[in-house]
Amino acid sequence: MQHGTAGRLRIDLGALVANYRLIAQQVAPASVAGVVKADAYGLGAVPVSTSLYAAGCRHFFVAHLCEAATLQPHLPSDATLYVLNGLYPGTEADCAAIGAVPILNSLEQIDGWAALARTLHRALPGVIQVDSGMARLGLTADDLATLRVSPERLAGIDLLLVMTHLACADDPDDGFNVQQRTTFNAIAHQFPGVPRSIDNSGGAMTAGVGHGDIVRAGIALYGGAPHGQPNPMQPVVALDATIVQLRTVDAGAGVGYGLTHRFDRPSRVATVSVGYADGWPRHLSNRGSAYIAGVRVPIVGRVSMDSMALDVTDVPDAVLRAGAPVELIGPHQTIDDVAAQAGTISYEILTRLGHRYARTYLPAPVATPDRSIMA
Ligand SMILES: *Cc1c(COP(=O)(O)O)cnc(C)c1O
Repeated sequence: MQHGTAGRLRIDLGALVANYRLIAQQVAPASVAGVVKADAYGLGAVPVSTSLYAAGCRHFFVAHLCEAATLQPHLPSDATLYVLNGLYPGTEADCAAIGAVPILNSLEQIDGWAALARTLHRALPGVIQVDSGMARLGLTADDLATLRVSPERLAGIDLLLVMTHLACADDPDDGFNVQQRTTFNAIAHQFPGVPRSIDNSGGAMTAGVGHGDIVRAGIALYGGAPHGQPNPMQPVVALDATIVQLRTVDAGAGVGYGLTHRFDRPSRVATVSVGYADGWPRHLSNRGSAYIAGVRVPIVGRVSMDSMALDVTDVPDAVLRAGAPVELIGPHQTIDDVAAQAGTISYEILTRLGHRYARTYLPAPVATPDRSIMA
């Protein structure tokens, strides 16, 4: 259904692949894994992952086993699916059945996976995550000490990676990055010969540091700024709403729930087709903006569930009509701009994109073999 929707969401898979290649150049010889959790940050895990696969990506990270189960049938068997949150108690057999690789974040998760390997009489692939200072997921220093004196707890587990996660990678100048890298590299010696993974997008796009063997890129693939400006990534997402109705109001009139905006001059108001149920932040009430034919139009009053109002007094009449497109994300306003206005991050803008949009995927150009890699 392409008509009568909340708006048009275009996802440029060519830009996605260009971003993948830019990150790959930056981190070579490390390889780039696609982080496709949360339905590839709201953009569609299947089209995103299959496009990345065609571009050469073979490693894919999701957060939950259910996401791996959804994606697994769509990827060729030489793709590896990793589950970041690891094994919730009782999910070991399902994880093995799907062939997903759990990130083992605790001794309990290691024990559960090793026990299943014994039961099945075969080795099971796993990744060890260590906590190098973020205190979110991963083995603590105490856990690592325990493991040092009882290495048999890892018996039956084929370690594909040892990984950690950076807390401050969105600011390459933050000294905590160096501290975490140093801590991690010291710990990784405990697992000789096992490939290493440290960086998210921010870490991957930081110059002058080692990137280990695999980086885990999410937001930069999807066009978000890995850190600050200028943003080297290509935009992947464009979002247009539609003008539903136009009206003229007198000076002193109010608009929207609570009449939180009052017009100080006779004004034209456009009610447009996107509201907070479509993931457009209610926080943008009286502060965000949109663009009509390149003219900035402020959001006036509160964002409603299915619509919001724009002050279009300064827009030429010729482009104002019901059905006309309104740029919410596009050349004049990036996902990072929208996030900054809403007091959040681009990740939240993308992952909340609603399901009432007509989605269009612009295909990536057909992949040609990279001769510089084949030589
Ligand atoms: C989400 C996530 C990533 C991807 O982070 P980006 O900043 O989007 O690149 C990488 N690693 C882990 C452990 C994550 O949870």
